[in-house]
Amino acid sequence: MPKTVLTRRRFLQGSGAVGAALSLPFTLAGRPVAAPGEGDGPRTGFEEREGASWTTHDEELGFLADVASARPDRLRLTELARTSTGRPLQLAALGAPVAGALAGETPTTLFVCSQHGNEPAGREAGLKLVRDLAFTEDPALRRLLDEQTVLVVPAANPDGRAANTRGNADRVDINRDHLNLATTEARAIARLIRDWAPSLILDLHEYGPSAPVLYDDDLLYLWPRNLNVDQAVHDNAKSFCLEYLRPDAHAQGYSADEYGLYKVGPNVGPAHDLGVDVQVAQVAGNGDEGICRNAVGLRHALGILVESAVTQNLTNGPGDIGTAGNQTRRVASQEVVTASALRYMLEQGEAVKLVTDSARGRKTREGLRGDVPVYFDGADNEAPTVVADPPPSGYRLTSTQAAELAGTLDLHAIERRPSGPGEVTVSMAQPAEPVIPLLLDARGKRHSTAATPVD
Ligand SMILES: [Zn+2]
Repeated sequence: MPKTVLTRRRFLQGSGAVGAALSLPFTLAGRPVAAPGEGDGPRTGFEEREGASWTTHDEELGFLADVASARPDRLRLTELARTSTGRPLQLAALGAPVAGALAGETPTTLFVCSQHGNEPAGREAGLKLVRDLAFTEDPALRRLLDEQTVLVVPAANPDGRAANTRGNADRVDINRDHLNLATTEARAIARLIRDWAPSLILDLHEYGPSAPVLYDDDLLYLWPRNLNVDQAVHDNAKSFCLEYLRPDAHAQGYSADEYGLYKVGPNVGPAHDLGVDVQVAQVAGNGDEGICRNAVGLRHALGILVESAVTQNLTNGPGDIGTAGNQTRRVASQEVVTASALRYMLEQGEAVKLVTDSARGRKTREGLRGDVPVYFDGADNEAPTVVADPPPSGYRLTSTQAAELAGTLDLHAIERRPSGPGEVTVSMAQPAEPVIPLLLDARGKRHSTAATPVD
């Protein structure tokens, strides 16, 4: 297990640009696409109140409808689902598909905002992104919209946002449900991935203070760590974080570092409180296939988790939480992420689409040959202990099991065929190969059923 030293840095006070210009259109060099009030179009409730309070659900509906009616050539709104309390879960699709391209044909980026309802900054950045792209005259962004697709789910958990809770109205954490798909909200995201095949997915979160202090960065990022993710998908996700997101954040005066689950070493305590470095190690949990970044990685998308810091006052408690300045900073840091993602897709979009599209064939061939183990635990920074090597060639389900799981199998695009009386077989030789054992094998930590492995 790799050891990491967490260095307690001096907090970056304020969020002014440090002036390290990138050789890119300034609107894309890790900066907001357009500053609030700078461009045309409606304003969010958050903007109207200058950051004093978050955009309400009703304001979100009105705002998106206004943008869509003003720019029908650029933006199409779709209701993906209704939550258990009846709130619409909306998708904003911008760019090529509105002009007639079919879903999955163009390089596609998806922003999943605030699936933890009490982490609202990503949603504000997502709403502003929709408006700014719909109204932009920036030549690079116009080109992006001509050639690519940008999808935004501004409120991936509308009930949780309205109630300011992490879970949905049934108190389920959606971000552990992206394999099993028990919630309406996770099913909506899975359907998007199946139908639009995004190459890059940004999952926008926030992190709060903890005792002891584990993180002190403005932004944290992480790629899919699950060991069954296609290697090229994994490597490109990691390089987006290290070669785009991190330098773009730094160029704008925000600190950014890798997210993980840290275990604090023996010198935690008074020394830590006085600012002395502590030894930490990354521990298990990073490969969890129920988490969005891993689950979408298993579906061949570059799944990136981002967390913005809820407070900069990490040692002394939540002193600045709730102020307009604090909330504006959090949203501005999330806007660096959305801009960095667009810069990446402008520069790498076609190449990344080749990587994510071709992962389907690579995983199908792996499943056919049966020469790559299945990992039921571990992560790219943690040795696995439960491994099927050689892997099964497929799984046999009873027709009852297959019927109970039909919706989930469909949403993960898992093909199956009748193979005998009362029996259905799922072959590993298909694009969904990495998902199949985690969902169907009793060795999977989050398996939905215990099907019979076929050798
Ligand atoms: Zn979260």
